Amino acid sequence: MNECVFCAIASKKIKSRIVYEDDATVSVLDITPKSKGMCLVIPKKHFDFFDEDIQTATKTFKSALIVAQKVKTSLNPLTIFFASLQAQIPHFNIRVYPVYENQIPLIENRPIEVDEKEMNEIANKIRSIDVHSPEETETEEVVEEEPKQEIVEIEKKVAVEKDDRQRDDKKFWFKKSFETA
Ligand SMILES: [Zn+2]
Repeated sequence: MNECVFCAIASKKIKSRIVYEDDATVSVLDITPKSKGMCLVIPKKHFDFFDEDIQTATKTFKSALIVAQKVKTSLNPLTIFFASLQAQIPHFNIRVYPVYENQIPLIENRPIEVDEKEMNEIANKIRSIDVHSPEETETEEVVEEEPKQEIVEIEKKVAVEKDDRQRDDKKFWFKKSFETA
């Protein structure tokens, strides 16, 4: 029986462009990316479905968040999709899929053309960004005084209007892309 490809990547029997690694997971640049900087987050332990090892699956999701932050900072995509699809390889994994402006945001697009040199540059860029694990990120507690009721109402109204406008702007390219897909 052939060894699982993802196990071989995780144990470094197959050479890959690693962008992040910790005790439980290894994250690599996808060799047939659907978008620039698409990464695969792979647990080092072999299992197929997330519920076969919830603990390791949780660590894999955590690594996916770290990789997504690295991709976001280094490549500045419009947004990032996360996907865990059961595909040909029966080894649990999470795809971190950056989406750029004017790009059809479908995860099963055809691979994009990137040469080896550019792939190495992208991997270096993502790898070079330092991010903290979600647990290490401290959240500052802000204590605010209670504002008066009428001010709250006005602020709420303004916030909703502003929010609607921003949402409409952002949704436009997204909707358009799907219509043309
Ligand atoms: Zn495997």
